[in-house]
Amino acid sequence: MEIYNQIIRSVAELTGKSAPQRYAYDPSRAWEDAGAFELIMAREAAFELGGDNLPAVNFTCVTTSPELIDRDEILLYGPDLGAIWASTPFARLTLLRVGDIESDDDDTEQAFRAIQNMDFVKYRVFPKGYMIRTSSENHREQVRISKDAIRRGISFERIGNSFLQRYKQDPNIISAKVIFITAPDADYAGLQKAASQVGKITMSLTKIMEGMSTDCSSCMLKPICDEVEGMKELHFGKEKHTTE
Ligand code: SF4
Repeated sequence: MEIYNQIIRSVAELTGKSAPQRYAYDPSRAWEDAGAFELIMAREAAFELGGDNLPAVNFTCVTTSPELIDRDEILLYGPDLGAIWASTPFARLTLLRVGDIESDDDDTEQAFRAIQNMDFVKYRVFPKGYMIRTSSENHREQVRISKDAIRRGISFERIGNSFLQRYKQDPNIISAKVIFITAPDADYAGLQKAASQVGKITMSLTKIMEGMSTDCSSCMLKPICDEVEGMKELHFGKEKHTTE
């Protein structure tokens, strides 16, 4: 599974100049889960990540490469939740390393289903006092943080552990990184562009899975396949194809 590798490699250039804080996965540090969507009213809110129309980028990439994702980890670029006082630009990225999910008979469909299930995790994490609102159309994930959660010491390390705990329940996932970005100098426009490219790749995978023809010369997805390493190989199996 190489189709997201270019994007995973590009992330390091988009996070700003500061070194990240790194936290190893520790399930005992997961933040309390509310069990279901919890409404936080504006008067109860301390601030919003991505509020006031600021960037709020979210995407998930999958790879089989151990070099790209070597351990379970949470990374934070920029201020932590306890040091934020007002709406701030935000991004949360998830990078997942899986086994070779495209090597079986029904490879493309299996890969697609696995990726889809992994991405659905974001709809199953309900940290208390951390109200997530997503829009898959424009790849936004905006978060309202309650004053009470700030008082009780909520942090990205705790939230990252909540996400990792969920991802680790999927037997396809070998290791995972959750990256939070609040750094003012991060390249949010570049992150948004990467999110949109991820969306295009996943959409192409959907079309391929629906059984589209294998004639590249008349295919509307050719611009994406020309740009994304491994896309054509995914459609045509492991054989390198020659139809251009
Ligand atoms: S490999 Fe060719 S036919 Fe398949 S999606 Fe890409 S451009 Fe279209």
